[in-house]
Amino acid sequence: MRKSINAPPSKAKPQRTCVTCRQVKTKHELVRLVRTADGSVEIDISGKKNGRGAYLCRLRECWETALKSGRLEHSLSTAIDREHRELLVKSAEELFSDA
Ligand SMILES: [Zn+2]
Repeated sequence: MRKSINAPPSKAKPQRTCVTCRQVKTKHELVRLVRTADGSVEIDISGKKNGRGAYLCRLRECWETALKSGRLEHSLSTAIDREHRELLVKSAEELFSDA
């Protein structure tokens, strides 16, 4: 039996841009952050959560800059309070040390 599905000539890997350094990387190299329904921001390891998303490198500098400069907030159109920012950086550190 022949399949009549039109396959694309090359399988393009989904690529995303880091909010801080603007480097384009594959989704695998970045960590997704998602704005939840209540307006808070969570790290989305699965990359499948619903909501507005932003991507950051697996680098502490990128996270700190994104949070300090307000780039992440801008990108997600939300406000992140200081406590929550610190929590996100901490969670990120745990995430990276695990990798
Ligand atoms: Zn970056």
